[in-house]
Amino acid sequence: MKTWKLLVAAVMALVMLFAVSALAEATPPEVIGPGPGYCTHSKTYEDYLKPTCTTDGHNWVVCANCGEHVSEEVIPATGHHMELAVEVVPATCTEAGREPIYDCTNDGCYYTEGGEVIEAMGHKMIESVPQVDPTCTEEGRTAIYDCAREGCYYTEGGEVIDALGHDVLVWAIKPATCTEPATETGICERCGEEIVVETAPALGHNWVDDEMFPAVAPTCTEDGLTAGQYCDRCWLVKAQEVVPALGHNWVKDEMFPAVAPTCTESGLTAGYYCDQCWLVKEQEVVDPLGHDWGKWVTVKEATETENGVQERTCDRCGATQTREVEWEGTMPETGVVTVPAAVLATMLVLSMGGYVVLKKRAIGE
Ligand SMILES: [Zn+2]
Ligand SMILES: [Zn+2]
Ligand SMILES: [Zn+2]
Ligand SMILES: [Zn+2]
Ligand SMILES: [Zn+2]
Ligand SMILES: [Zn+2]
Ligand SMILES: [Zn+2]
Repeated sequence: MKTWKLLVAAVMALVMLFAVSALAEATPPEVIGPGPGYCTHSKTYEDYLKPTCTTDGHNWVVCANCGEHVSEEVIPATGHHMELAVEVVPATCTEAGREPIYDCTNDGCYYTEGGEVIEAMGHKMIESVPQVDPTCTEEGRTAIYDCAREGCYYTEGGEVIDALGHDVLVWAIKPATCTEPATETGICERCGEEIVVETAPALGHNWVDDEMFPAVAPTCTEDGLTAGQYCDRCWLVKAQEVVPALGHNWVKDEMFPAVAPTCTESGLTAGYYCDQCWLVKEQEVVDPLGHDWGKWVTVKEATETENGVQERTCDRCGATQTREVEWEGTMPETGVVTVPAAVLATMLVLSMGGYVVLKKRAIGE
């Protein structure tokens, strides 16, 4: 009897040991009471571990005396509840995009997935305008390629291709002359156009003096001539041209200076000679100037019995001249037409009257 009991106790202990190690993490309180084998688990309580997205939950019935798990119910993990958090960012031709991001909305779970980089697509080029080939004289253009993707306006090509220029097969060469440039004439092997290319400018005439028609120098009074010339390459003749007469170049002759005239004495112009032909210009007589008389000035008043005297002076040379003046009544001035006092008074009254009439008319208007 005693040995059986011991055996049961040993088996129970083993079971307990297994249970404890299996539920190591979730194992609740320490064993209380007298120990295994002695408890009838008469008093129990429930213990609960909530499941998470990834770990199972548990419902235990635990013995309040010994702490042994009397029963266990596993509540499976809930799994994540993923919801779209960030919309997809599509890649463009040149910029990378991003996959959408999903977050788990369950409480306390920070699990997230997505958001991977989507590589840029690169352009998808298609030819929109074909190449325009250049000709001899007109430039061409490379083909134009556009990106076919929506919203992308990337374009390539359309560069200018220089005109080819004629490919000339020369069949005539003309050397330069005095008046015509040197040329090469040919035909373009590509476009068939006749081409004349100037290879050197015209030479210009090579003028040589003609001994038969020498230059004649002009003199003071006679026209001259340029030398006659001819081109010793083309024999063109250049006629002589008239060179106008020089005209005298008068220079004052220091031997015959000018003499200024006075009021009463004649003068002389300066003597000149031409320093080109030595022609002499004779001195010429300049007439006397005559006095430059001032006003008559009364020196002595005339009286009834004696004539007066007046005098005037030359402003230039200071010479004086006098004359006698006869008595002419009450007028102090002499040399003026004498008007009787009565006539003068009448004229004064008449002119005053005229003035008054004029003034009245002016006011009346
Ligand atoms: Zn118990
Ligand atoms: Zn989750
Ligand atoms: Zn593109
Ligand atoms: Zn051509
Ligand atoms: Zn010539
Ligand atoms: Zn001269
Ligand atoms: Zn004078």
